Amino acid sequence: MKNLSEKVILVTGASKGIGAEVAKKLAVAGARVIVNYAGSKSDADAVVAEITANGGDAISLQADVRNPAEVKALFDQAIAHYGRIDVLINNAGIMITKTIAETTDDEFDRTFDINVKGVFNTLREAATKLADNGTVLNISTSVNRLMIPGYGNYVASKSAVEQLTRIFSREVGHRGINVNSLSPGPTATALFLDGKSQETIARLAALNPFNRIAETDDIANVVLFLVSDDAKWINAQNIGANGGMA
Ligand code: NAP
Repeated sequence: MKNLSEKVILVTGASKGIGAEVAKKLAVAGARVIVNYAGSKSDADAVVAEITANGGDAISLQADVRNPAEVKALFDQAIAHYGRIDVLINNAGIMITKTIAETTDDEFDRTFDINVKGVFNTLREAATKLADNGTVLNISTSVNRLMIPGYGNYVASKSAVEQLTRIFSREVGHRGINVNSLSPGPTATALFLDGKSQETIARLAALNPFNRIAETDDIANVVLFLVSDDAKWINAQNIGANGGMA
């Protein structure tokens, strides 16, 4: 992918799932990658080991995106190591699917702390620390476009991410930074698969005409395009990558 080889890219929540796939593909394209994780150090280190074994350049850095001091340290350590950050990919997130009636206070708070405050914390650092002409990509979800019982708290948090995206684009656009969100549909990761029966997975797969859920590869390919200079004129948008589900 054009121009990625010149970029330093921070991927939050890159120890697993979509973030890990994105980090590996970015490194193959020549980017220098910061693999952030909260608790899964061995998974994050394995991502870095695979990247470096293939001749790429990456480091893992621990930071819980909920914690402003840890997020500040994440940015400062990444810049100390690579000299700058060109691209921020806000991928870290959780999904708890319960009806509103069943959702506990703790589940509501945990979802908003990670999915919304986590993005807010990184955007606040990026406002002054991301390099001029950089790119921000926030990961939302295509279930925002549906009305599926059990997704209330999750889509509320991701809708907030889409609004932060729009406003942030106007706050940093004068520095040449473009800001978008990407809304994947169901994707084969632990976040989506855990606790679901084959029947439920098949029902959700049937919501798109290709009748399958995405592999992490499907989503990572779109991420690579959106953070490349080829996509620079895309700004303040929410892009769906869901096989036509919504
Ligand atoms: P996943 O496989 O569960 O991976 C989640 C990643 O987020 C892990 O690397 C995890 O790291 C990290 N993380 C969680 N809490 C964190 C925190 N407080 N601070 C820093 N990192 C944290 O999930 P995924 O499916 O790849 O999801 C990635 C993103 O895509 C999420 O924002 C999700 O909402 C979104 N998404 C997923 C789907 C889907 O169907 N899979 C669809 C639409 C959107 P640790 O293990 O170290 O905590």
